[in-house]
Amino acid sequence: MEKRLGLYIHIPFCEHKCDYCDFYSITKFDDYVRFTDTLLLQMEDFSEKTKDYVVDTIYIGGGTPTVLPVKRMLELIDGLYRNFNVSENVEFTMEANPATVTKKTLKKYKKAGINRLSFGLQSAVDEELGALSRIHNFDEFVESYNLARNVGFENINIDLMYGIPGQTQRSLGHTLEQVCDLEPNHISLYGLKIEEGTPFFKKKDRLELPDEDTEFEMYKYAVDYLAFRGFWQYEISNFAKDGFKCRHNMKYWTCREYLGLGPAAHSYFMNQRFSYKRSVPMFMDALEYVNSDIDILEENYTVTPEERVDEYIMLRLRLTEGLNVNEFKYNFNKDFSQMFEKELKLYIDNGFMEFKNGHYYFTIKGMYVSNYILSTFLTFDSEMAKNIANGLDK
Ligand code: SF4
Repeated sequence: MEKRLGLYIHIPFCEHKCDYCDFYSITKFDDYVRFTDTLLLQMEDFSEKTKDYVVDTIYIGGGTPTVLPVKRMLELIDGLYRNFNVSENVEFTMEANPATVTKKTLKKYKKAGINRLSFGLQSAVDEELGALSRIHNFDEFVESYNLARNVGFENINIDLMYGIPGQTQRSLGHTLEQVCDLEPNHISLYGLKIEEGTPFFKKKDRLELPDEDTEFEMYKYAVDYLAFRGFWQYEISNFAKDGFKCRHNMKYWTCREYLGLGPAAHSYFMNQRFSYKRSVPMFMDALEYVNSDIDILEENYTVTPEERVDEYIMLRLRLTEGLNVNEFKYNFNKDFSQMFEKELKLYIDNGFMEFKNGHYYFTIKGMYVSNYILSTFLTFDSEMAKNIANGLDK
């Protein structure tokens, strides 16, 4: 059978650092030529190892990929097609910040082969965008979104957030309504996390955050409202119109192979999990000088059979279709129901999980506290689980 691969390219630049953001990105950088040349070298390095694979999904994320000058982005895309066997039917996504695209740049991205855009909006309420220190307002987003539709993008995702300082269920409802009226094909909805090392973390006691119960009510409301508008939840934070699940992200959740290029990118390739350090200068120095002994790997390990079982459980249960016990038995020759008899009974009795047609899956209540529940199924350390999850969120 043909081997398939997803490619992720991390573009770690932003115009401005949002106060809540923990993704690796830097501002005030201008040596884009050197950076893209380094990424092209990395693509060349991997082209031999991936020659037996067909790349059927590509995801350019960040940071803000649209901050990279278009000429450089087109060179990168050209490099992708030169170094990898890209399928004709590739799902090719690029993340875009609403304030950083124009009709001209969108046309160029489209012509170069990008066929899916993912806009980071977060909220349709300008005060909430201000609280998050986003660089755009809602009207600017709508303008960019309409431009993208006008130049022919037929597959668009919009990222939203709940649990924003000052947000209420009513204001979240307003955001969902406005966004659904635009008829995107996919919506991602993440709860705000206060991550260590961010400006939000420093001032967390002064932030006007919704309490836990209100946050849960927001999540529940959003799941119901989105279903009412035809966006089916297929993962804890992801909702799609029929036929528009994100094929690239599905690779993460179904344990398929993907290769991440660029600083801070994560990979699962040939049974190795590895990621690169969060440093643009180190990334460029290490790859330019082939004999350099700079180690850019943050982590690198072979996945053991036990870890594969843990990963499978952790990733499959994020999907609304859940974990199929027959498939689990076929893959690992183990009985999931027996392995976790006590835990499963507890979660089912308390309304966090259900079992139907051979599948265990989370209820909405379970999804909301999935991180905790999943940790009780896993044998590997929580730091490792966190690293895998971090790799997946981009
Ligand atoms: S949220 Fe997006 S735009 Fe804001 S700093 Fe992070 S990567 Fe950049």
